[in-house]
Amino acid sequence: MTYDMIIIGGGPGGYTAALYAARAGLKVAVLEKLSAGGQMALTSQIDNYPGFQDGVDGFQLGEQMQQQAERFGAETVLAEVTGVELKGKEKKIITSEGAFYSKTVVIATGADPRELGLPEEKALVGRGVNYCAACDGMRYRGKTVVVIGGGNTAVADALQLSRIAQKVILVHRRDQLRATQVYHDQLLRTPNIELRWNSQVAELLHDGKLTGVKLRNVRTGEESAVQCDGVFVSIGRAPITALFAGQLSLDESGYIIAGESTETNTPGVFAVGDVRTKVLRQVVTAVSDGAMAAHYAEEYLASL
Ligand SMILES: Cc1cc2nc3c(=O)[nH]c(=O)nc-3n(C[C@H](O)[C@H](O)[C@H](O)COP(=O)(O)OP(=O)(O)OC[C@H]3O[C@@H](n4cnc5c(N)ncnc54)[C@H](O)[C@@H]3O)c2cc1C
Repeated sequence: MTYDMIIIGGGPGGYTAALYAARAGLKVAVLEKLSAGGQMALTSQIDNYPGFQDGVDGFQLGEQMQQQAERFGAETVLAEVTGVELKGKEKKIITSEGAFYSKTVVIATGADPRELGLPEEKALVGRGVNYCAACDGMRYRGKTVVVIGGGNTAVADALQLSRIAQKVILVHRRDQLRATQVYHDQLLRTPNIELRWNSQVAELLHDGKLTGVKLRNVRTGEESAVQCDGVFVSIGRAPITALFAGQLSLDESGYIIAGESTETNTPGVFAVGDVRTKVLRQVVTAVSDGAMAAHYAEEYLASL
């Protein structure tokens, strides 16, 4: 059997593409290796997705997106995609459950935030360890936060948090930032941001909830404890695109190059959500992409 659309990844981007495509009468399957919701399912409180005045549990929202798409006929297959053949009119998707064939493919595999790799980091997520200032910054109004990193994202996060938190400490392992110059000037003009150069976080201090960090000077080895209420790890993201290298154009960071239309450089293949080149990686932008992909996929199918 050949599907009209196969979606790789069952996060918010993937299930929105499935919803729109199924409602348009297309034969659609979502291939997901874990469970619905993707990264969103890792957080118990999403406060910036419209329509939920008290916020919503990410896992629950993921399940609801799946059920909504399935109500209109989308199928979910629990399978890990291990290979793809995207060129040509019929696309082949190789998975742990066998091969699937489709006329269009929507890639919605997301991008994992890079971790520090410290002991208990995972256990402290939601208890003081954060990877997204736009998502979790509001929880630290009037508090002290540490931001780790030295690129544009880290500096943008520090500036954003400086408008919410009482104090922001930016920790960077080098003696100068990688961020563009325009950010340097803003940083220096912001009185509640303190810079800690040549430093890295050696330990997360906690009593079940984060209470501070132990910093190590990478030049002298000297260690110091810093009290804080939250840590934002802003050391980049890893897009899940290894499967597509050589078949789709990727940027230097590994994101699939696609604009607002979500079209890639390969006809019939679309990239939605965190996996594509874009400025803001959020649930609301992923669902928007899903709707766009279904629209452009319909146009592509009509042209076959
Ligand atoms: C802790 C945390 C908190 C967050 N909080 C918020 C928030 O409050 N508000 C907000 O707007 N955003 C938040 N985000 C960001 C938001 O979750 C993402 O922007 C959004 O989930 C991206 O959706 P997506 O559909 O692009 O991909 P993802 O949600 O990353 O989903 C990708 C899916 O693809 C699957 N997949 C990957 N590879 C394969 C494969 N080979 N085969 C099969 N399946 C595969 C994965 O299992 C996953 O389910 C948060 C992120 C994290 C990590």
